[in-house]
Amino acid sequence: MGLDIGTLFLTATILSLLVGTMQAIAYARVEAEALSHWAGASLCFGLGCFIVYLRESLPVPVSALLGNGLIFLGLGFLISGVRVFDGREPHMGLVLGGTGLGLGLIAFTFAFGDELGVRIVIVSLAVALWAGFGSATLLQSEAGAPLLSRMVAAVLLASFALLHLARCIGVLSGKLSPDAAMYGFPQAVVLLTAICLAVAWGMGSLFMVLDRLASHDALTGLVNRRMTLLRARLLLEEAQAKRRPLSVLMADIDHFKLVNDRFGHQAGDAVLRAFARSARSALRAGDFIGRYGGEEFCVVLPGADAEIARMVAERLRAVAQAQLPPVRGQEAQVTVTIGTASYDPGAPGFGDVEDLIQQADHALYEGKRLGRNRVVAFSPAGSAVFEPRAVQAGA
Ligand code: GH3
Ligand code: MG
Ligand code: MG
Repeated sequence: MGLDIGTLFLTATILSLLVGTMQAIAYARVEAEALSHWAGASLCFGLGCFIVYLRESLPVPVSALLGNGLIFLGLGFLISGVRVFDGREPHMGLVLGGTGLGLGLIAFTFAFGDELGVRIVIVSLAVALWAGFGSATLLQSEAGAPLLSRMVAAVLLASFALLHLARCIGVLSGKLSPDAAMYGFPQAVVLLTAICLAVAWGMGSLFMVLDRLASHDALTGLVNRRMTLLRARLLLEEAQAKRRPLSVLMADIDHFKLVNDRFGHQAGDAVLRAFARSARSALRAGDFIGRYGGEEFCVVLPGADAEIARMVAERLRAVAQAQLPPVRGQEAQVTVTIGTASYDPGAPGFGDVEDLIQQADHALYEGKRLGRNRVVAFSPAGSAVFEPRAVQAGA
């Protein structure tokens, strides 16, 4: 089977440019910042592959520096996009620094005589390091987040890194001639992997963004009701299987309609964002919080029995009271009421997660009835148990 290297480079070019265009259109449509980095990455790959495709008709320093530089830059943009997607700093210094370092090393080989073998070793090593780092970045994701859509690209990127490492070692040890590394079967395998990566990454990146849009709330960045129910159900099933306790808290901001009516919808939005942020930071990594409805939030605490749930709820209530922005100076202090319900593996006849949420909701409304800004635990006896609030504040 003859695999023509030029045709493979051209195929990689066309696919990468198509994927980049799709990602750019998706970015213009949904404005997910990560997509702008990934569109940049695919376009850099595409142009880089095209320059390498044209290498016979270009001066070698131009094709080697420009072609490989664009490929290095593309890998850097892929990494910065994943970081942005995960809510981290893009690290543009690293992207440009990594590309500059790779280019510097290639330029260095020209300064000491144009040696093809040395250049292949350096380029392969640089791509292996960059692609390996990219694969690791794709595999690091917040605990419990879906990994599948990024897994295929991560595995292909890791293979891409290993193939480059093998090529580097092959040329260094003399087992692979520079000519075979550039035009032979090993190069065809590298290019086929790159082509698979372009296709998998094109779909994976769009799927990641669509999945995020469909499962997250744009205002607070927390997961939405649908995903909250899904995750809560899974966490309860896990707790039941391991016979460990689990608690659910339903937190509702008090008199929120008044905040909107008096200070405007934007002030209300700022309060929702602030609550989401402070609640998230007051919880442990394994705990889960979602926006259940307008100003209602659902927290799931795996491993927490009724007593721990009460303590966590009290902490959240106090954090909300201390940290929610006083609306327009000190005119209004925003508070929350929290209802808790717990799954006890020792107690017989337990239902599903909807029952647990309903019980926590029941306790929440008991808390509202009792005067708000407090924590109430659901009691299996049917009536809610009132937990005195730590700080008395005007509700
Ligand atoms: P309670 O203490 O009994 O919970 O009273 P409340 O005013 O908080 O409850 P109510 O259910 O009467 O009002 C909830 C309000 O939340 C009404 C709705 O306009 C507002 N709301 C829901 N979603 C949003 C949002 O995304 N932004 C803003 N600013 N307001 C929202
Ligand atoms: Mg409310
Ligand atoms: Mg409400």
